Amino acid sequence: MTDRETRHAELAERYLPDDRLDRFRRRAGAVDRENRFFDEDLVELSEAGYLELFVPEEFGGPGLTLHEVSRLQQRLATAAPATALAINMHLMCVGVVRAMCARGDRSLEYVFAEVMEGEIFAFGISEPANDWVLQGSKTSAVPQPDGGYLLSGTKIFTSLSPVWTRLIVHGLDASDPEAPQLVYGFIERDEPGADGADGSGIDACERIVVSDRWDVLGMRGSQSRATILREARIRPERVARRLPPGRHPDLLTFAITSHFQLLIASVYAGVARRALDVAAAGLRGRTSAKAGVPLAEVPEHRVRLADAHLEFLAVPAQIDAYARDFDELVDHGQGWPLRLVGARIAAATAARRCAETALMCTGGAGFDSDHEASRLYREAAAGLFHPPSADAARPMLAAALLDTDE
Ligand SMILES: Cc1cc2nc3c(=O)[nH]c(=O)nc-3n(C[C@H](O)[C@H](O)[C@H](O)COP(=O)(O)OP(=O)(O)OC[C@H]3O[C@@H](n4cnc5c(N)ncnc54)[C@H](O)[C@@H]3O)c2cc1C
Repeated sequence: MTDRETRHAELAERYLPDDRLDRFRRRAGAVDRENRFFDEDLVELSEAGYLELFVPEEFGGPGLTLHEVSRLQQRLATAAPATALAINMHLMCVGVVRAMCARGDRSLEYVFAEVMEGEIFAFGISEPANDWVLQGSKTSAVPQPDGGYLLSGTKIFTSLSPVWTRLIVHGLDASDPEAPQLVYGFIERDEPGADGADGSGIDACERIVVSDRWDVLGMRGSQSRATILREARIRPERVARRLPPGRHPDLLTFAITSHFQLLIASVYAGVARRALDVAAAGLRGRTSAKAGVPLAEVPEHRVRLADAHLEFLAVPAQIDAYARDFDELVDHGQGWPLRLVGARIAAATAARRCAETALMCTGGAGFDSDHEASRLYREAAAGLFHPPSADAARPMLAAALLDTDE
């Protein structure tokens, strides 16, 4: 084994040993069936220091790289995809700050101390039908005399909704119609002073309201409920950026995009990997009455599994390569979005393909809603909804080849 692979194996043993993964996998079915949050997994992950993975050593953490965290997230997702998807949002926020520091911008390093104190970060960017995603917002950000902002709007699919204490959000400051600004910053759930005593008449509990509606097809344990903001405050020292709407190169948004795409890709790579194992177990465990041999020996089934395996193999390799490049500060320039989005779409596509293969290989038994194959199929379907969709990415992929001067 290379030094690097030995290190990955040590990290897996330290943070996600086999017995812990087994417990997570056993619980994942119940969490899904009961449509509840993964409280027990979170306790175990917190105690193991998993929420601190990205915190640099100088701030008391283990200082893992994006590549190392990606491998762990792939492993976690083989057991509990919804847990992995939701905890991704916290990891992503911390990883973004680590990456900014590595590139010389230490303006958000207070996040590390807060993580070490037990704060849980979440990602409140998605809004209803806002296909600008990071580059636009339907949420209003009203500037305050102290330099802070009051945000009003709806954020959808806020994973970790029962437990987050810090939410990275964006909103549009249109106070100057000639020069609107997108504001990025952190909302604190327990923000001191947000008790209506500011004369707004809005109680703290009304400023951030979590939707009571959450009954979705897959990734149910992530409890990614909508969050309604009503004059929710970003304190002046928690404002991270002010940028013009649209495409403007910036380190914060680049770091968010990189971590979002590669860590989401990691989750679906883990789903795909597990689905292949479930598929293989299904073929080994069933015998063809006609052929009189296990289905594992029937050529059509072997080919089906082999094809899914082939599609999967490129996925972790792609994630590994791009995560390592990101850690090593490789400058792919305009080539970064293609790589990042390409890796995430490929991983989500492979997850759906492998999950369908698992269903076919486990047969009618796999169609039972309590069977892991059935749940993996539904978890994989969530991969259709992470931005940008394949439709949204195609113009960029085509333009990279067609709309050049050559
Ligand atoms: C499992 C999962 C977890 C995700 N986690 C995150 C995350 O942590 N952070 C993040 O930023 N993005 C997250 N996303 C969002 C995702 O990346 C996409 O941005 C989003 O799915 C795109 O939605 P849309 O435009 O198709 O939504 P739309 O079709 O516009 O809306 C989707 C859903 O949002 C809710 N909704 C819409 N409007 C309102 C409203 N006015 N009031 C209340 N609820 C409303 C409804 O439930 C609706 O079905 C997650 C997605 C999934 C599938």
